[in-house]
Amino acid sequence: MTKDLFRQDSYLKACEAVVTDVDHDAIVLDRTVFYPMGGGQPGDVGTIRWKGGSAKVSDTRYGESGAIRHIVGEDAARPKVGDSVEAELDWDRRYRHMRMHTALHLLGSVLQYGVTGGSISAEKSRLDFDMQDAVDKEQVSKALTALVSENHVVSCRWITDEELEAQPDLVRTLSVQPPKGAGKIRLLEIEGVDLQPCGGTHLKSTGEVGLVRIGKVENKGKHNRRLNIHLDD
Ligand SMILES: [Zn+2]
Repeated sequence: MTKDLFRQDSYLKACEAVVTDVDHDAIVLDRTVFYPMGGGQPGDVGTIRWKGGSAKVSDTRYGESGAIRHIVGEDAARPKVGDSVEAELDWDRRYRHMRMHTALHLLGSVLQYGVTGGSISAEKSRLDFDMQDAVDKEQVSKALTALVSENHVVSCRWITDEELEAQPDLVRTLSVQPPKGAGKIRLLEIEGVDLQPCGGTHLKSTGEVGLVRIGKVENKGKHNRRLNIHLDD
């Protein structure tokens, strides 16, 4: 199992680690700052360096039993199990994912409808809403910009299934019902705006989202409105 440093501190750009497994196209470390694809957020890319070599990481995925696989490809040089390495993210790309991801939480709080899908990339992100109403793009855009400029604090905390059950008020305030039976749940809170279970990487405060713009609004069926967002810098 790889220790997921990015869940404690999403601003870590690099870490020292020890190689625990090397397979046909990936390197597994005992700890990492690389986010593995999940929850609509892409896997991180970057570089792993060791004494006498390095490899470009083109994607990051979960493997078996909590191992995080840094995909380097079949032709890449690879370190040996037990080697010490440095793992460094493509931070510019990841930071855009964090801005997008946090912006999507804000968008979900502006449009109080069920979310049926979503996807994040550094260039463009989207959320699909279970809604039939027309979208007032200008109003949504204004509300989103206001939440960014109000600079709400964003934080994460872990709670157990028992703690969640003991706090019915918390369950009522959650915008998304948490998965049951995992033992513990990671909650993402945007103070005064949103509280929901989420495992992704977020900003410290909404002001860091910066210049965000609502793009195309698409009708994807009678009950589905897709909103695209862009970062304007
Ligand atoms: Zn999230």
